[in-house]
Amino acid sequence: MPHYVGVDLGASNVRAAVGDETATISASAREPTPDGPTGEAVTEAVREVVRAACAEAAVDPAAVAGAGLASMGRLDVDAGTVTVPSNLGDDIDGIRLVEPVATLLDLDPESVTLRGDTQAGAIGDRFHAHPAVDDLVYLTISSGIGAGVIADGDLLRGRNSNAGEVGHQTIDADGTMTCGCGQPGHWEAYCSGNNIPRFARRLFEEGTSDTALPIDDESFTAADVFAYAGRDAFADHVIDRVTALNVLGVANVVHAYAPDVVTLSGAVVTNNPDTIVDPIRDRLPPKLVVDTPEVTVSDRGDAAVLEGALVLALPDDVRA
Ligand SMILES: [Zn+2]
Repeated sequence: MPHYVGVDLGASNVRAAVGDETATISASAREPTPDGPTGEAVTEAVREVVRAACAEAAVDPAAVAGAGLASMGRLDVDAGTVTVPSNLGDDIDGIRLVEPVATLLDLDPESVTLRGDTQAGAIGDRFHAHPAVDDLVYLTISSGIGAGVIADGDLLRGRNSNAGEVGHQTIDADGTMTCGCGQPGHWEAYCSGNNIPRFARRLFEEGTSDTALPIDDESFTAADVFAYAGRDAFADHVIDRVTALNVLGVANVVHAYAPDVVTLSGAVVTNNPDTIVDPIRDRLPPKLVVDTPEVTVSDRGDAAVLEGALVLALPDDVRA
């Protein structure tokens, strides 16, 4: 039986998996993503993790039949590189991926597929959880917000496979909060795991006198806000504002792509399914002029993108 390799290059971890034609992970390895000093250091970490996953699976790297690579950041798929990595050192100006991995696995670079990480998540979610669904949005709310879109049965890639940056849609024309990308008013600037604490501090400055939240602590996180849900009026206020913006963001995505299914994923969702997801389900229908999709929570945990990368490695006839 042929073996395939999937890679998930995230800002925190590099992960690789080996699997068969069912895109089920049989062995895997991971390492923290090196914070530089160069893109080449990240490339070498990816190759090392691929070697480790192959060793774990007792598979000769040269015998691997195909590879799929999922990555954070802005991609140049023709060059097989990450051109603008997110959240890594400023000195990293690009990361070569396709050619070095193809060389390691003795593959034609043509048979190594590079896609955005949420795009791989959409591919994996459809393959494993919704094989009969042709219109699906896989939406991640974690340190950032992004989506992978399956439209009419195919992955919506966009130019250079960069479609789906829905976290950078403007949901606040007043631009109260500034996004990590530098632009004001983006969804991600209010509702991502990294930015909920910043948004909470801003709301607090607007005139709240009392809260049990450790709002002035440097270690204040989104998890603190959710931990105080139902016990602290200000925490409930923050969650209500975040929810209202999430409903706007999801409604915009549904209006753009008219999916049958929206699969929510990412730590903010999976750590707080009742607080985050139930209100979206409840408040979404009256906002829509298109059919209301099923809103589900991914059951693949943090393996969804890695599994999607494995699916990308499969030959077209197996994947479809
Ligand atoms: Zn932005």
